Formats: sequence, C-alpha cells, structure tokens
Amino acid sequence: MKDIISKYPDLVKYRKKGITVPIIFTAVFELILAVLIVALYFNNMIISHYVFYLILVVIALIPFIIFKPFSFLFDKDYKGKVEKVKYNEKLNKSSQIPVSYVTGIGDIQDYRDNEHMDCWQTISIETEDGIKVEYDAKPKIEKTHQDEGIPMASFGVKKYVVSSLLDYYEIGDEVEHYSGFAFNKKLNLKPNDKNICIVCGTLNSQKENTCKNCGHSIVK
Ligand SMILES: [Zn+2]
Repeated sequence: MKDIISKYPDLVKYRKKGITVPIIFTAVFELILAVLIVALYFNNMIISHYVFYLILVVIALIPFIIFKPFSFLFDKDYKGKVEKVKYNEKLNKSSQIPVSYVTGIGDIQDYRDNEHMDCWQTISIETEDGIKVEYDAKPKIEKTHQDEGIPMASFGVKKYVVSSLLDYYEIGDEVEHYSGFAFNKKLNLKPNDKNICIVCGTLNSQKENTCKNCGHSIVK
C-alpha cells in the first residue's frame, strides 16, 4: 500500500507527534528516576534488598504502560474488509477527571467526580492478506466545540461521535487503516456518504477538505 498520508503535511506532523511525544515522556521519566537513584546511592540511602530493586523495576516500567512509546511498531497500514463493528462503553473510577461534565450535545449523564465514562468503537477487519485485525478507536474532541463555548472532555460528544460510526461502517465495506490514526477511512463512497476524519472520527461531507471538528485534512 502506498503512503497516502505523505500527501497531507498536517497529518504527517500529527503522526510524527504521536510517535515522538510518548518517547520523550518515557525518556524524561526514566532520566528523572535514574537521577533519583544516583542521588540516593551517593547519600547511602539505597537499601540493599531485592524487594527495593523489584519496586524500582516496577516504577521504571510504568511509563511504558501509560505512554506506550513503542506502540507505533505494532501499528501498520493495511487495507481490508469490515467484518463487525461494535460500540463499547465502560465506567472508570479515577481521581483525575474533569469535575464538570458538559451539557448541550448528546445525552449527558451526571457522573460523580471520581468516575468517568469511556467509550470507543471496536471494528473487526479482514485484511487483504487474510489476517483478522481487531481495532479500537477512541474519538478526539477538539477545537470547534471549544470555539462554540462548550468545554472539551464531554462524554456526550464522544458517545455521539462513536455511536454515529455504527451506522457508518457496514459489513463488507472496504476500509484503509493508516498507522498512527484512530479511525479507518472508508473506501468506495456513494455520492451521499460522508467522509471520516481519521484523526477524530467526525463525519464530514464529501466536499469538505478539512475536518469541521479538529481542522485536520480529510483523506480523499
Ligand atoms: Zn477531525
């Protein structure tokens, strides 16, 4: 498959950022940890006990789980046929979520501060090489909603975006996946079909060249 993304400089930039930012975050974390260990060592504060080293190893692994710096290695471009599309949502308990949820779009539910809803789409694809791929896509809500004075991080908006895609992809549709992007492009569009933004999952009319939600280029 030839590299379609290279025709769109802003998407190339987006993909590069998606690869380099997690690597930088991981590297900075490991560096701080190393400096801390060296400082402790010179202050004779390293306890020579295997449990202590085990804890250090666990701490050192945390950024690999959170930032997933090497996930790009497993994310390849492919073309395939849709076999199944599914909507998922999960209630997460966490202490680091926005305090207020937004009203206005979709069906907004009121969750307690330490709970938040996560929603995503799972799409099963059989690739051209006959490999079955299961692929999760989470929407990204940006710009426009903020411009309109509606704050970000709205579960309702995300739910609306993800649910609308359930009707978008049909079994047997040909799609293309580009590494580093959350949503698959649907090929062979009918005249009234919408074009998906591969960054945020918003559906745009075919005459649109940039996404009405996030402003990124629409792959044509
Ligand atoms: Zn978009």
